[in-house]
Amino acid sequence: MKTIFIDRDGCVNVRLVGNWVMNWNDFEFMPGAISGIAALKKAGYRLILVTNQRCINLGKFSEDKLDELHEQMQSSLKNEGGFFDKIYHCPHDRDENCGCRKPQPGMLLQAAKDFGDIELSQSIMLGDQESDRLASEAAGIKTFYEISEAQTIADAAKLILAP
Ligand SMILES: [Mg+2]
Ligand SMILES: [Zn+2]
Repeated sequence: MKTIFIDRDGCVNVRLVGNWVMNWNDFEFMPGAISGIAALKKAGYRLILVTNQRCINLGKFSEDKLDELHEQMQSSLKNEGGFFDKIYHCPHDRDENCGCRKPQPGMLLQAAKDFGDIELSQSIMLGDQESDRLASEAAGIKTFYEISEAQTIADAAKLILAP
């Protein structure tokens, strides 16, 4: 099934300078994120969120609170017709050498394993950082769109859905 992997901070929500987004009050959707995610979902794409959250293993945030935050995000997205089919997060810190913290491709490979019908070479990744691009490349994904204020998820969706 056609699948798009999307990074969270800096793509779906605005990054907080010098801190992690750890409560709903700090979760501000990026321009174009809600409409872009809805457009891709309506076009039949499977959407998978892949996010590094080392705040968890630093002891600053918990898995339960992260799930709660993501449920709130999902319900806001659903109000506009979009949602993520699955959310993967890496809780590890930089020095733990896990296989899932981007730029490692572990979350993407795990998704391919879990779903069984993801053709990674035909999949797409949207991210705001070099580590997102590197993770997608390492997973064999050939199409990467860099997301920023200048090219939002809605802009990328237009390019993806262009005939
Ligand atoms: Mg990011
Ligand atoms: Zn990890």
